[in-house]
Amino acid sequence: MQAELIKPMSEDFADYLRDESRSIGHAEHIAFPHSEEEIVAALRACYQQGEKITVQGARTGLAAAAVPYGGCIINMSRMNRVTAMRHENGTYYLTLQPGVVLSELKKMIGSKKFDTADWDEDAKQAYVDFCKDGEFFFSPDPTETSATIGGMVCCNASGARSYHYGATRPHIHRVRMALADGRIISAERGKGRANGYDAVFTCEDGSQVSAKVPSYRMPHTKNASGYYAEKDMELIDLLISSDGTLGVMTEIEVTLLPQPQIIWGVSLLFENEQSSLEFVDQMRRTVEGVASVEFFDTGALDVLREQKRKSTAFSALPVIEPFVTTVVYVELHCDTEEQAQQRLFAVGEAFTKAGGKEENSWVARNQSDLDRLMFFRHAVPESVNMLIDQRKQKDPTITKLGADMSVPNEHLFDVVKLYRATLKENNLESATWGHVGNNHLHVNVLPNNAEEYNRAKELFKTWAAKVTEMGGAVSAEHGVGKLKAAFLTIMYGEKHIDEMRALKRAFDPKWLLGVGNLFSEKEGI
Ligand SMILES: Cc1cc2nc3c(=O)[nH]c(=O)nc-3n(C[C@H](O)[C@H](O)[C@H](O)COP(=O)(O)OP(=O)(O)OC[C@H]3O[C@@H](n4cnc5c(N)ncnc54)[C@H](O)[C@@H]3O)c2cc1C
Repeated sequence: MQAELIKPMSEDFADYLRDESRSIGHAEHIAFPHSEEEIVAALRACYQQGEKITVQGARTGLAAAAVPYGGCIINMSRMNRVTAMRHENGTYYLTLQPGVVLSELKKMIGSKKFDTADWDEDAKQAYVDFCKDGEFFFSPDPTETSATIGGMVCCNASGARSYHYGATRPHIHRVRMALADGRIISAERGKGRANGYDAVFTCEDGSQVSAKVPSYRMPHTKNASGYYAEKDMELIDLLISSDGTLGVMTEIEVTLLPQPQIIWGVSLLFENEQSSLEFVDQMRRTVEGVASVEFFDTGALDVLREQKRKSTAFSALPVIEPFVTTVVYVELHCDTEEQAQQRLFAVGEAFTKAGGKEENSWVARNQSDLDRLMFFRHAVPESVNMLIDQRKQKDPTITKLGADMSVPNEHLFDVVKLYRATLKENNLESATWGHVGNNHLHVNVLPNNAEEYNRAKELFKTWAAKVTEMGGAVSAEHGVGKLKAAFLTIMYGEKHIDEMRALKRAFDPKWLLGVGNLFSEKEGI
């Protein structure tokens, strides 16, 4: 092993054995490469030894995908530079190392401040254009902004605004990927498609990787469940959402969008959940320019009420009156104030039709009010994580159990009915929030002990089967990782999982990368 690059695991690196799912793994080595060359060197060393490899971004994942099951961790935190900008046909593209953190990227784009010292002349010229041009943004917005671009691409992460702009996938223009044996492939949007179900990647050394695209039909919903697969698909889409199982992304080129001129948000407070769903159903058919539609149920609001009461860090949260059982947040992206006013009026109409009262709404027309509503949004998962950590102290075997399933529009009412009825039957405490515009709710069970935790795990399996029957996805944004591998089998069935295995083997014949992700560990080895 290359001693400088690949270090033996020790107590100092204990944090790298876990991610935000709170699962803890084990590893023998760890590497923090600074360049593609170092990634390749680490991969080659592992390949020679037959050592497993787990790639890590910021470890904010919720599916244990970055948690190692033995072998060597390759952590991307030292590869965090923006290395170029391109300006073509009015569009700006940024080339990123995979460890660039989303919050930093947003800051650089928003302030138009980049370290251009190492950029070539073309990139510097694009930057000159960019500085003189209007405002731009990178639209993917997972709530956790400490995620890296590599992690986001590998999970096809999404967020509130994906309702309008789509998940990470459409905003990725080009990627470079190092395979387990150190060969490099690249793929660019608009260049390179599968021929039917035959995908061929040409490596930089001239060799080829030929793989069969799985033949399943993906759900027509928001989806981050396993490999993207479609006849004649763009090759780049096979690499996006591959969950660390096909190779290590070494470079990612992202597309920027023009910043909308006007952003307004409105939180609508409902006395009952059914009215809130009727509002969503009505509003998404009648209102234009809606960028996001978010939902918070009684369980989530109760956790926030408790946080505000107990912790000064959450004192900025608004008071949520006892009559409020559900909150729906709608964000409007518009060209002019007049348009924003019209759209806000249309939202109000849908709200009243669903039984809402105008005084039960909070409107944000400026950045500080929008930031306050964002704080509210982020405080929910943070508070739930803190609650689970407290409960974990009493029973270390429990972890957070959050569903990440989506269904087509016509099944929104059915899926909420399913969640409510079965949680009640099982007498389980829960908090639910998320992207209701995409029929994608994070139902989080809050177990008090191991028995409740295990019961909830079984319940999630039954949900995976029902959601599949509704034409939905078992993971809409967090990726499958290790924790949802069984759900993926429920969703696609053994035949298609075998096709996925064959695809992985074409890229990684020794089955070294991301072991335990997508497929349960024993299956791959
Ligand atoms: C409070 C909270 C809120 C969240 N909200 C959202 C949300 O709204 N939407 C959402 O989508 N997610 C959300 N997440 C989950 C998480 O932030 C995302 O999944 C994120 O994309 C993970 O990025 P990461 O850098 O932390 O990746 P990691 O967790 O480190 O890794 C995730 C996967 O990507 C692979 N990977 C990482 N880098 C590379 C690389 N360079 N090459 C190959 N594979 C790589 C890993 O092997 C692993 O399979 C949330 C998490 C938390 C804690």
